[in-house]
Amino acid sequence: MIRRLIDLWKHLVEVSRYDPEKDLDRWREQLFTVIYPLALLAGLAVCADTLHTAFVEQRFLLTVAACVAYLFVMTLMSLRFVPIRARMAAGLVIFFSSVFYQSSPLVGYLFLFSLPPLIAILVSFHAALSALGANVLLFIATTYHFATFDVDLQNFGIPSLDRWILYGIVFLVLDIIVTLSFGLLTKGLAQVIALEREVRHALMEREKRLTELNTRLSEEMERRERMREELSETERKAAFYLSHDRLTNLPNRAAFLQRLSVEIMRARNRGWMFGVVSIGLDRFKHVNGMYGTAGGDAILNSLAERLRGILRDHDAIGRVGDDRFMLLFSDIARPEDMLVILPRVWETIERPFQIETQEAQVSASIGICFFPLDGTTAEALVKEAEAAMFAVKESGGGAHRFFDAKMNAEMIERVTIERKMRDAIKRDEFIPFFQPKVDRFGYLLGMEALIRWNDSEGIILPDRFIPIAEQNGTIVEIGERVLYHACRQNRQWQENGFVPKKVSVNISPFEFRSPGLVRRIRETVEKSGLDPLWLELEITESGIIRNEQDALRKLRELHEIGISLSIDDFGTGYSALSKLKDYPVDTLKIDKSFIDCVPHDKRAVTIVVSLIRLAHNLGFKVVAEGVERSEQFEFLVVHGCDQFQGYFFGRPLAASEFEHHLHSSTSSS
Ligand code: C2E
Ligand code: CA
Ligand code: CA
Repeated sequence: MIRRLIDLWKHLVEVSRYDPEKDLDRWREQLFTVIYPLALLAGLAVCADTLHTAFVEQRFLLTVAACVAYLFVMTLMSLRFVPIRARMAAGLVIFFSSVFYQSSPLVGYLFLFSLPPLIAILVSFHAALSALGANVLLFIATTYHFATFDVDLQNFGIPSLDRWILYGIVFLVLDIIVTLSFGLLTKGLAQVIALEREVRHALMEREKRLTELNTRLSEEMERRERMREELSETERKAAFYLSHDRLTNLPNRAAFLQRLSVEIMRARNRGWMFGVVSIGLDRFKHVNGMYGTAGGDAILNSLAERLRGILRDHDAIGRVGDDRFMLLFSDIARPEDMLVILPRVWETIERPFQIETQEAQVSASIGICFFPLDGTTAEALVKEAEAAMFAVKESGGGAHRFFDAKMNAEMIERVTIERKMRDAIKRDEFIPFFQPKVDRFGYLLGMEALIRWNDSEGIILPDRFIPIAEQNGTIVEIGERVLYHACRQNRQWQENGFVPKKVSVNISPFEFRSPGLVRRIRETVEKSGLDPLWLELEITESGIIRNEQDALRKLRELHEIGISLSIDDFGTGYSALSKLKDYPVDTLKIDKSFIDCVPHDKRAVTIVVSLIRLAHNLGFKVVAEGVERSEQFEFLVVHGCDQFQGYFFGRPLAASEFEHHLHSSTSSS
């Protein structure tokens, strides 16, 4: 009970902190829980009194009915799910019914007077006020009843009517005070709670509004962002199409020119060159007529796509006219590199295009020019590439042409040679000529095999095709054929009874670096049947210095087979003589460019003389190549050169013609 009261107090203190709606109810319930046992006790006492009176007066039915009613109401009041106000009402019923059967009006009033404050707390202040009014009316009515009917108040334990009125007034005053204070307290509390509820509600509302505003704001911001994006997308598109072609999305003429200008600066800074290629589709009107404009557009689109596919990082492309494209190939080392790129360009044009179910084929004219060889401004380069392209168009189209006439001729030759080369290998058209090597007495010591291309249109010299063969890799096959023929021929001469001589075969730097070189040479020599003793290989300095370790290993292996080794074009490279002494090399061949200048050029004289001396000191034999005049020969003899080669002694000749050198050397020996 005391704990309950403490709880109640605590509750009152904390009430402002709780959820007002719930707490008000809970607080009422707490009060009710305190009052409830008191009410039970009081009810029990009143009931017992009633029962006692009824029993004494022998009204048993009433006794039983009172007991049942009492039990029923008590049960009702104990049920939790019954609303608190219903339970309160049941309590009131029991008080009224008890009081109604009270013998003493004093006790009855005591209970009646306690009702308004109770109602004030538990129900509402208004109800309490009406209960108070009812009390006053009841008092007046009872007093009137007592006075009018002259009731013997002594029977109720009241000494006189005056006393009754006095008690009544005192009770009523007390009742009013207690009810008012309880009511005000509850009302105040309720107000505080309501206020708090209002504040909370307002806060919540505010928060809700804020969140709402926030959402609206972010929605608005999103909308703006979208609008801005859409706007910039349109702007971007507009800007893009200012510089790009709508059909293929490629840069237009102006944009391509700009790109070219940038490339010119880049190439200038680095000292590089680049190529500009103009592609004009041949008779495109005709194509449009055949496949319709949509078909023509589709062809242009796929061609643009294909061309884009063959570009490397710094290359560029543009659509500079209805049926014209322009390509920029950056970082080109020399014009010949274009010959590697052109087949790829041709492939993109000549591969059939799929127009719905049909296959369409187009032809084009291509013009090529180079920065800085043909022009140094973007406009000039475009003009020249297009001039070359239009020249092709005029002569029927379907081909390419270089702007520079000389270069064009060279390139055409290159392409022709390259095309013919593979067939020539199959037809074994590469054969060696032989040039004599003699000693200071003119005695034949050996011969250098020099390759010739025995083309149907005449003999082609190595300068015209060896660089190409080195570039496309066919030099390996060609070199192998020449080596075989040279060895085979030498063997044949030996078999024919000529005094055995050494044959020198040139190995190009590319060939020398190729993997499997030693094995291939060994097999070829074996196949020819020549004793390796009668073979010398001429390797240029540049062939050795690239990868010295690998070169040294190869030279040793070749030397072990029994093949002699000679350094060709000596003096033109950068190798230090001292380094060469570690190489298994027997001979140094002083380059023709030095021999050409002796004995008149002092510098050349100094170089040749010191080369010969140094070579001898290191144990090498020295060969002079390109000796054309007797004064050169005499000079070289005086300075101790060991062997001589040049037109002065004999030009390179076909094997059958070379035999007379062998004859004379055989007869003189
Ligand atoms: P190289 O090895 O320096 O050959 C010497 C070149 O000088 C030869 O030219 C030869 O005909 C030429 N020559 C010789 N004596 C004289 C002379 O007195 N005056 C003049 N003006 N020229 C002379 P060729 O035969 O045209 O060969 C040129 C180059 O082609 C050779 O230079 C060599 O590097 C290469 N070569 C020739 N045959 C082969 C071969 O079978 N394989 C490889 N890889 N390269 C070869
Ligand atoms: Ca040579
Ligand atoms: Ca040479």
